Amino acid sequence: MVSTLPLISSIELPSGAKYEQPLGLFIDNEFVKPVSTAGKGEKLITVNPSTGKPITEVYCASEKDVDVAVKAANKAMETWKSVEPTVRVELLLKLADLVDEHTQTLAAIEALDSGKPLNSNAMADVESVASYLRYCAGWADKLHGKQIPISSTCMAITKRVPLIVGCIVPWNYPISMASWKFCPALAAGCTIVMKSSEITPLSLLYFAQLVKLAGFPPGVFNVLSGYGKDVGSAISRHPGLGKVAFTGSTLTGKKVMADAANSNLKSVSLECGGKSPLIVFEDADLKECAKWASFGVMYNTGQNCTANSRILVDEKIFDSFLKIFLGQLKKDWKLGNVFSESTTMGPVVSQQQYDRVQSYIKIGVEEGATLHQPLLDTTPSAGFYISPSVFTNVKEDMRIVKEEIFGPVVTISKFSTESEAVKKANDTIYGLAAMIFTTNFERANRVADQVEAGSIYLNSSNNEDVRVPFGGMKMSGIGRELGEEAFNLYTVSKSIYYNYGSKL
Ligand code: NAD
Repeated sequence: MVSTLPLISSIELPSGAKYEQPLGLFIDNEFVKPVSTAGKGEKLITVNPSTGKPITEVYCASEKDVDVAVKAANKAMETWKSVEPTVRVELLLKLADLVDEHTQTLAAIEALDSGKPLNSNAMADVESVASYLRYCAGWADKLHGKQIPISSTCMAITKRVPLIVGCIVPWNYPISMASWKFCPALAAGCTIVMKSSEITPLSLLYFAQLVKLAGFPPGVFNVLSGYGKDVGSAISRHPGLGKVAFTGSTLTGKKVMADAANSNLKSVSLECGGKSPLIVFEDADLKECAKWASFGVMYNTGQNCTANSRILVDEKIFDSFLKIFLGQLKKDWKLGNVFSESTTMGPVVSQQQYDRVQSYIKIGVEEGATLHQPLLDTTPSAGFYISPSVFTNVKEDMRIVKEEIFGPVVTISKFSTESEAVKKANDTIYGLAAMIFTTNFERANRVADQVEAGSIYLNSSNNEDVRVPFGGMKMSGIGRELGEEAFNLYTVSKSIYYNYGSKL
């Protein structure tokens, strides 16, 4: 019964260590119970994907709680908007230090709740939060407007006005994806209502305490655990928010945009799905390419929006590449206990995701593609583990080539000319990323210009950097996170005309 659920509970990690996990909604710098604890949807069970067993329950928000949190964010903005930018710098730096202090616990929570290997993956996620906080702290007092000369007696200036922001995030990088939103938004002076994924609510609740500890005023950063169809949708529809920033599937992104349009026309940014091509030309360094391709598609158990899940290889080198690539997978990936130092691949996040990915593997076989599973013998049978799966003999119209699978599955097909490679690379509704492997500089630039994707990686994959804008073309999304461009998502420009002598 939810009424017996405490607001904070002790949770034991597989190492035997215990930590205090907040379970309430975080509103106005306090953990609170939902407004209404009656009826369905008041609690949410979160499951350990390594075992399939529940970890704990957390309080689950309803539409009414969204209202409470949005009111808190609006109230906070009344004073937060006048806070000096240098104060925001200090608060963000303090928060980064606190994340550093709590890295071990936060990473252990991510490993437990989302199935990320602790050492090779979850630690990096949390460390990236601290470094992005510091990067955005550097911007917080440098977000200038412009001065626009008009005539000898008139000019205008622009100011950047922060928005009250709703954020909706997915489960594949629970805290790290959230940080792509809260770091620039806090730096820009926004107040935030953030909804975590119902599948991985724990790390954001733990992080929320650090926000309070750093000294952010009540109501500036609020976190709701809850389901998308009610809490997520209530955020997209809420008239008290000036913006909704979403990361998740393209299907949900469309709903968010429609809800935003049908309510108060709030500004929308969307980071959605992908089916990114990795093109291997005959002159590529195949060993190096296989390493990047293996990392780029299998890291995070393939649950990566920019996974290079469609590999296109020049037919002249296809057989050599396939051999090296399958060997590389065996070298790189060790499935197992995510708390063990040697594990590099964990389970997928949930039973639902497990069923979805397995169904695509079945579809691939039924469609007539050839399945290679070089690590099948070492794949654990308990928990939601899936063996890295490679499909050859694929046709471009197969579902496994067309649809985002979001698991450790990759298709490899052939091309015979550069133009065919480009055509196949662009034959998708998505446009998030593309990887091009060649030692021919001219060709690298030519193909990079022709491929429709928000990020192009030449001779690498998925080594993005917080200083570089990130986002999708086509149905992979709208807007750019990271880099200087991220601040455009969280501020609106206001123009002020100065007349110092013009007479009518
Ligand atoms: P999802 O779309 O199912 O859910 C994402 C979030 O939206 C969750 O918090 C969910 O509760 C919420 N949601 C669900 N229905 C909603 C609704 N009607 N209104 C508002 N919110 C709603 O996605 P997921 O399964 O959590 O994540 C996987 C997807 O995320 C993949 O498609 C992946 O490519 C994408 N993704 C994209 C990026 C990127 O930067 N482009 C990054 C990570 C993940």
